[in-house]
Amino acid sequence: MFEDHLHIECGCVVGGAGLAGMGFLFNALKTGALEQMASQGLMVIDAAPEAGIGSLGQYRITANSVGDVFIDCLRDPRLAAIFEPLEYSPAYWRIRRQADSAPPLAEVGELMSEAHRLVLRHIVQRYGVRIWHSTTLTAVTWQPGGLCLQVDTAGFERRIHCRALVLNLGGRQEPGQLFDALAQYRLQVPPGARVIGSDDLLRMSAVQIREQLMPVVDAGQRVTVVGGSHSAFSVLENLADALEFGGLQELTLIHRTPIRLFYESAEQARDANYRFDPQQDVCPVSGRINRSGGLRYRAQEIGREVLLNQRVGKTGVKICRVQLQDGGVEAGNHAAQWLAESGAVIQCTGYQPVLPTLRHEDATPIHLRQAHGGLDSDAQGCPLDQDGRRLDGLYLFGIGAGLAADPKLGSEASFEGRIYGVWQFHHDASLAVIQAVQARLQRFTRQPVSARHSLVQTLDENMRLLLPGLSREA
Ligand SMILES: Cc1cc2nc3c(=O)[nH]c(=O)nc-3n(C[C@H](O)[C@H](O)[C@H](O)COP(=O)(O)OP(=O)(O)OC[C@H]3O[C@@H](n4cnc5c(N)ncnc54)[C@H](O)[C@@H]3O)c2cc1C
Repeated sequence: MFEDHLHIECGCVVGGAGLAGMGFLFNALKTGALEQMASQGLMVIDAAPEAGIGSLGQYRITANSVGDVFIDCLRDPRLAAIFEPLEYSPAYWRIRRQADSAPPLAEVGELMSEAHRLVLRHIVQRYGVRIWHSTTLTAVTWQPGGLCLQVDTAGFERRIHCRALVLNLGGRQEPGQLFDALAQYRLQVPPGARVIGSDDLLRMSAVQIREQLMPVVDAGQRVTVVGGSHSAFSVLENLADALEFGGLQELTLIHRTPIRLFYESAEQARDANYRFDPQQDVCPVSGRINRSGGLRYRAQEIGREVLLNQRVGKTGVKICRVQLQDGGVEAGNHAAQWLAESGAVIQCTGYQPVLPTLRHEDATPIHLRQAHGGLDSDAQGCPLDQDGRRLDGLYLFGIGAGLAADPKLGSEASFEGRIYGVWQFHHDASLAVIQAVQARLQRFTRQPVSARHSLVQTLDENMRLLLPGLSREA
């Protein structure tokens, strides 16, 4: 590993140590790949004061999987010694007790953060991995042989030159994406209405939701939810719970495609009187119904209640619902009228990845190509730029990016999005990335990262004089 105060050269950087970045590190430990990566220099960079927390635990909803799915991410002989302290952890036992039911995400977040802390401590002590918390990745310059990362720690800027960057900085919701989605159906958010992202709303307490939205309810305006995903149904429940008591009687739901529910089998779906398309909605590998795109657990219960009784859960709050795709003129008219009557619109139309500034070596900006529900990347999460050029060495698979469904593992034909979730981060998704990173590190062994010299020359030499004591560890 080359190093001076302002430049570091290493093999691989994990940019963002949330649930996806940590899944990569866990799986690298389990597969034995971490040792090789660390021998060529492995760094973890995260903007938060403590790496390994991520956002999952901040959502005030239940998980879309049972507790055992999270425990399964920790269940591996290679990790057993590292996780011994979890035997005494209340967070661990809380999730163990909910092995067969969906736990609150706050509790999942607590367990995963504890497990992340143990793994990070282990890889620092055993393999010399460097963890830089409170460090923001601000820009990445890509070239075929390597990447140059610009990072900022409390106002001190440094450069890291690496062969591979595993980049999962979380998700964001651009209001422009909501406006575009509505514009496809000649619909718009009325000028006076507030737009709130589901990401923000699902982090709010009932008191905060009331503070934000009671003025809308009091003014007799609609609160409209746009989207048909898990988040949309979680939002409906949190809104109804918080606002019914303040007089809310009705919520509006506008979604594009049919609301799809998950079932373990066709038989189970038929028993529940759920109608599905045997060609489009059944996974050919597992026989599950709407395996990738169907609502599960609590969101499924809310979805069923909305479909059958036009109500949100057990509350008395009614739902006015319209499906835009195949809905014809009538659906469009309803949606237009309800939007016009709305004082607040909650955006549940998916996520885009948080990204640093990306550019080519000649400073041309890079825009990553989008696919429905995420990024247009290959099976290893390696994306394309605006010209269709594959950006080798860059790998994304977290929220906002995702991966296409793997035909070997199966999915339903009607699913058009990208797949992401904690279990995938710890298993299939990160495994493909680990293999790609290892192959790349092997290919480039013993060649210096060529970007370094040109970039060193462009560095303002005065920075060295200004920051002579810049610490090696943040
Ligand atoms: C409402 C909701 C509910 C979900 N429920 C589930 C569920 O039940 N089960 C499931 O499996 N999945 C669920 N997911 C999907 C997914 O597992 C989570 O979104 C997960 O948190 C995504 O992990 P991530 O690492 O991609 O992002 P995050 O967890 O958000 O982590 C991003 C990390 O990047 C860091 N970072 C951000 N910007 C920078 C920067 N510039 N430089 C350096 N670091 C930076 C942050 O500090 C953070 O640590 C849910 C998603 C949402 C939105």
